[in-house]
Amino acid sequence: MYLYNDPTFLLVIPALILAFFAQWKVKSTFDKYSKVACSRGYTGASVARYILDDYRLQDIAVESVRGELTDHYDPKARKLRLSDPVYGSNSIAALGVAAHEAGHAIQDAKGYAPIKLRNGMVPVTNLGSTLAFPLFILGMFAGLPVFMDIGIVLFSLAVVFSVLTLPVEFNASARAIRVLADGHFLTEKELPGAKAVLNAAALTYVAATAMAVLNLVRLLLLRNSRD
Ligand SMILES: [Zn+2]
Repeated sequence: MYLYNDPTFLLVIPALILAFFAQWKVKSTFDKYSKVACSRGYTGASVARYILDDYRLQDIAVESVRGELTDHYDPKARKLRLSDPVYGSNSIAALGVAAHEAGHAIQDAKGYAPIKLRNGMVPVTNLGSTLAFPLFILGMFAGLPVFMDIGIVLFSLAVVFSVLTLPVEFNASARAIRVLADGHFLTEKELPGAKAVLNAAALTYVAATAMAVLNLVRLLLLRNSRD
């Protein structure tokens, strides 16, 4: 959101730089380790299948999905979807991403509190993030502070959602590395590559959260300047 003659925009510049850096980092790290084949011959899909079966999650299907870095676990459909460069690939990067997504399925199965809370917040967060800025701007230009306040409350929900994403993502990556090591899917020498890919991915979530928090600070500053 850029408002004319609004110096609070400067506040989010560090988060913007971090976001661009994280995007570059995740892409370059993934590219690097997607060219390194794992020595034990697994693919992203086969590792995901092994892990899910090991946790008695045989009913969760592993499917391929179009695009790059579009990998995700869908708790409603009970499907683990892996992108083309992960599904059939035997690279270290593919195994890292596949194990991470399986980690989300395990969180869901075990009732891991942050993911339950986060999934429960999805509908309100979607509504909140759609309406927050329009309501805030309307309130600002129409001189109706109550709309600015409602905008701030709605945006705060999006911030809480973003903050909750962090433990969910870090926990899924920690599970992934543990399972890849314990299950002997990757060797000691290959594990740091998978870790690097997952750390780079985590950085994109940190950047998004920093952006959300700083935008909330901006809204509060703009709101206070209207009193
Ligand atoms: Zn994730």
